Amino acid sequence: MSFRVGIGVDAHKLERGIPLILGGVRLDFDRGLAGHSDGDVLAHALIDAVLGAAGLGDIGGLFPSGDDRFRGADSLDLLREAYAQVAAAGWRLVNADCVLVGQEPKIAAHRAEMRKRLSEAVGGGEVNVRATTTDHLGFTGRGEGLAAHAVALLERP
Ligand SMILES: [Zn+2]
Repeated sequence: MSFRVGIGVDAHKLERGIPLILGGVRLDFDRGLAGHSDGDVLAHALIDAVLGAAGLGDIGGLFPSGDDRFRGADSLDLLREAYAQVAAAGWRLVNADCVLVGQEPKIAAHRAEMRKRLSEAVGGGEVNVRATTTDHLGFTGRGEGLAAHAVALLERP
């Protein structure tokens, strides 16, 4: 059995007038994440973590921001597609741990649903979702954007 770990990091700007999607769940919030797709930082960090662990490049290479096919894309679809490539290379997700970095919104009430949706997109592998603030420091602390970090462990028999 071989094992590989990967890390993913992402950040997007918060802007008014767009829905906030995190971990595939739409949250009731006054701003959303700007991006070429739906801006789902948790899904994007997880995509890079599984691609990184499998040595398959990164989200920008797989889904170029200049490509109109991915404009407004559901990031869970992108995660599903990225994981299909990881699985095609013989890897299976053991577990992933994702951390949202931001002062608000609070995600506790949505955590279970986020975990379920992210897990479904990666073949049922265990996905944890957590959140942390930065004590009002930096762009996430000032509410200018949200960031996410993820680590993923893959196994190949
Ligand atoms: Zn992103």
